Amino acid sequence: MEFRAIRTCKNCGSEDEYALSKIDAAFSLKYDLIQSKKCTKCNSDKWSEIKYPSPYLDKELLDIWGADLDLNFMDQDEDIILAEEENLPLFLEAIDNKRYPQSKLNILLSALCILAYDNIIAPEEYTAAENIHRKAKADRVINELTKRKHLLTNLSWEIMDYIKEVIFPRLDIKIPVK
Ligand SMILES: [Zn+2]
Repeated sequence: MEFRAIRTCKNCGSEDEYALSKIDAAFSLKYDLIQSKKCTKCNSDKWSEIKYPSPYLDKELLDIWGADLDLNFMDQDEDIILAEEENLPLFLEAIDNKRYPQSKLNILLSALCILAYDNIIAPEEYTAAENIHRKAKADRVINELTKRKHLLTNLSWEIMDYIKEVIFPRLDIKIPVK
């Protein structure tokens, strides 16, 4: 029980804590249950906020997610959540070994496109030093995606258009006309 959700009562402001396992936290498994709880102080069923922790992604969580088509990471935009640089080796290993069903691997591929995109767009919002670092990150991801571009050409809806417009030309993939 390393994680805690906190439910704030709308009526009296009291906070109730609920212990969560890492898996509960990662996939919001107890969210509905906590929503349905009553305040332990005033018994109100109205809440103003539920703070839900998000554990760092690791191989254990990714494997659980990859094996279960019904599991999603907390947010609806799970590929955006997954788009973190430290996940790159984990994702490449899963993709190359076809560790999960294709629909899950496609989400990982999409997340890698988002990761590259995030480090390419809007350089004017960053300092020169930050941009050197961003470019190195983007180059690293683009390099890995280039080696696997045959996997991307079949993806259509999985990757958002604005991402494709920036990333696909860098991979020398033609953007399919609709
Ligand atoms: Zn209350």
